[in-house]
Amino acid sequence: MSLFDAPLFKDAYEQLTQAADVMGLDRNILERLKYPKRALQVAVPIRLDDGSVRTFQGYRVQHNMTLGPGKGGIRFHPGVDLSETAALAMLMTFKCALVGLPLGGAKGGIEVDPNELSRQELQSLTRRYATEINMIIGPTIDVPAPDIGTDGQTMAWFMDTYSQIKGYTVPGVVTGKPITIGGSLGRAESTGKGVAYCVNFACQKLGMTIDKNTTIAIHGFGKVGVPAAQDLSAQGARIVAISDVSGAVYNKDGLDIEKCYEWTRQGKYLKDMEGVELISNAQLLELDVDVLIPAAIDGVVTKENAGNVKAKIVAEGANGPLTREAIDIITKRGGFIIPDILCNAGGVIVSYFEWVQGLQNFFWDLDQINGKLHDILKDSFDNVFDTATKYNTDMKKAAFIAALARLERAMRLRGLFPA
Ligand code: NAD
Repeated sequence: MSLFDAPLFKDAYEQLTQAADVMGLDRNILERLKYPKRALQVAVPIRLDDGSVRTFQGYRVQHNMTLGPGKGGIRFHPGVDLSETAALAMLMTFKCALVGLPLGGAKGGIEVDPNELSRQELQSLTRRYATEINMIIGPTIDVPAPDIGTDGQTMAWFMDTYSQIKGYTVPGVVTGKPITIGGSLGRAESTGKGVAYCVNFACQKLGMTIDKNTTIAIHGFGKVGVPAAQDLSAQGARIVAISDVSGAVYNKDGLDIEKCYEWTRQGKYLKDMEGVELISNAQLLELDVDVLIPAAIDGVVTKENAGNVKAKIVAEGANGPLTREAIDIITKRGGFIIPDILCNAGGVIVSYFEWVQGLQNFFWDLDQINGKLHDILKDSFDNVFDTATKYNTDMKKAAFIAALARLERAMRLRGLFPA
């Protein structure tokens, strides 16, 4: 597979070129942004519990570092490949630029199903991967974080391995760490909290209020979906449907979110819950609700089903859950889309706070963190909304335009080396 083959890469690049056309971006800058700055592919051999050795493919891609060190998650998933990783690194460049962070875009991952490995095997995998990519990682170079299939424990092993190589503790090498070893308060729920903030901002713009009559469906009840559901439910909204990979549960009067969370926290599937109506993931996406939050995986709303999506607001909690064609279909019928690089930026914003706290060895309280998160997202949301109005375009293109405008200014100021 070449660098440009993954559907997510094609989609991300298509969105980039469309936004570039609308704003009249310099073609030289567009050309540069098609390519990652650096892409490293590594073999990750580990000894399995049965004594055999298995080799996995690992990647780290740094897309653009004009604004600062690379930032982006590490994904452990069977679908990981170089092209998908490059696409996600590109999206991180635009996400960081959009919300005004002094960080560039990067992403990494291993082609593996983490559910098939024991804890010991996962630790070996993480430590060997960290060793193989350590030469392009560091607090001033590139700072990984958790993504699909990885968590705080993965980051702890990663940080420890990097620190062993350096000979001293380097908390700033990764974010999303457990609090005990330098993690930030509020990081775990930051992405979902950011989604909830953005839904509020969108409602304000559209003259809608969040109360018991506001109906919400959430596709994907994981690290993003759960805190988004908890926050919006606490505000009084009616979460009528949630889903996981097994299927969806529905209650027209609103689900008891804490009960659902208790269930999934024990590792149980939603389809096995009692006292709720079971529907399919496909049906959830097409429910007649005020707000739909696709927060599971990419490419779930396509040209095939976008015409049936009825929600007034679609908040992209996941990365790339709507294809370009789906976005056009929903926008044309008057749906309001909160684009992923804005909607799920809460995670990278609090990751940035964690990185800063780690560098300073000075830690902030939760009110400070959530207050700053709210303010950055509010400014960014208003910027995207105003950009959409200025260019008479949709929110998705506007988010890319706002990000590209900042990047373009920075790239011009720094200039091309050698001149
Ligand atoms: P997660 O693994 O914690 O949760 C994913 C949820 O989606 C689970 O409920 C899972 O059962 C469900 N799911 C998985 N495959 C599915 C399928 N085929 N159909 C329906 N449901 C499915 O992952 P997460 O961290 O919540 O990430 C979700 C999305 O948000 C991903 O696109 C990720 O890249 C993006 N994201 C996450 C963060 C973060 O901080 N966690 C930040 C930015 C973006």
